[in-house]
Amino acid sequence: MRYEAPETLGAAIALLAGATGDTRVLAGGTDLLVQMRADVVDPELIIDIKRIGETRTVTEDRGGWRIGAAVTGAELKEHPRLKLVWPGVVEAANLIGSTQVQGRATLGGNLCNGSPAADSVPALIAAGALATLAGPQGRRDLPVEDVMLGPRQLALGKGEIVVSFWLPPRPPRSSDAYLRFIPRTEMDIAVVGAGVSVTVDGAGAIAAARVSLGAVAPRVLLVPEAAQAIVGSRLDRAAQDRLEAAARAACRPIDDKRGTTEFRIQVAGVLARRAALIALDRARTS
Ligand SMILES: Cc1cc2nc3c(=O)[nH]c(=O)nc-3n(C[C@H](O)[C@H](O)[C@H](O)COP(=O)(O)OP(=O)(O)OC[C@H]3O[C@@H](n4cnc5c(N)ncnc54)[C@H](O)[C@@H]3O)c2cc1C
Repeated sequence: MRYEAPETLGAAIALLAGATGDTRVLAGGTDLLVQMRADVVDPELIIDIKRIGETRTVTEDRGGWRIGAAVTGAELKEHPRLKLVWPGVVEAANLIGSTQVQGRATLGGNLCNGSPAADSVPALIAAGALATLAGPQGRRDLPVEDVMLGPRQLALGKGEIVVSFWLPPRPPRSSDAYLRFIPRTEMDIAVVGAGVSVTVDGAGAIAAARVSLGAVAPRVLLVPEAAQAIVGSRLDRAAQDRLEAAARAACRPIDDKRGTTEFRIQVAGVLARRAALIALDRARTS
């Protein structure tokens, strides 16, 4: 096995594009190294992207925020301003694993591992985040909801990596929240996850919303019907009921030992409602 840690994006892409055998990008390694130890993957070439500056920084960009794909959850939590603007994204990244795991695990790795239960992905989708990809043909932006096509299936072409995520500018009175259900308090994979982002108008009604659900379908879902169910409302009981119904209607979950289909559908509605209430409360006081 060959290990490379290039210091430029160009060098990383050239290595990836020129590789013939099984090649893997390494960020925090909290998925990749576990899979290697379990003999699930056996790469010939590992390309560590953590020395590439662009993947490791959080910057303000065009009125929004750009987060490098190899920034860890712990680093996001320490950022003085990001958590004020995007508390849901930061809290989702900090639900991943334990304190130790959060010191390594990255947003890029969470997305590119291709799990429908990845915790930060619903929060990024609710945020309207774009993933910036770079490859032999140059750069392109993809909405995060379009990056994952199914379990372990990504829309990345050969030689492409996720370089960063761009979170759009935030209008006043906006906020977000992420909640997940797990059978224990930590160190478990989401049975259901829900991310909600809202903007409130001057009169206190929801002017814009995005709702995303994880672990209830082969890919993390953007659920526009759930957002439409609450736009124009003050999230009164009737709007909450509409939101729950729309969230449940979007679910196509598996049935396994961690949760039955019926249970996941039920919980998806509850979490979408609770996350919306938290996001709304944060938006009104932001
Ligand atoms: C004990 C434990 C607990 C965990 N708990 C959770 C949890 O609660 N919630 C959760 O969602 N996950 C959890 N995970 C899974 C894992 O920690 C996360 O998915 C994490 O975000 C992966 O990030 P990473 O940087 O470690 O990825 P890596 O392991 O480095 O990479 C993961 C995959 O993505 C690819 N990749 C990484 N970065 C890029 C990039 N920029 N461009 C293209 N491909 C890339 C790699 O090649 C690899 O296939 C847990 C893992 C462990 C070991």
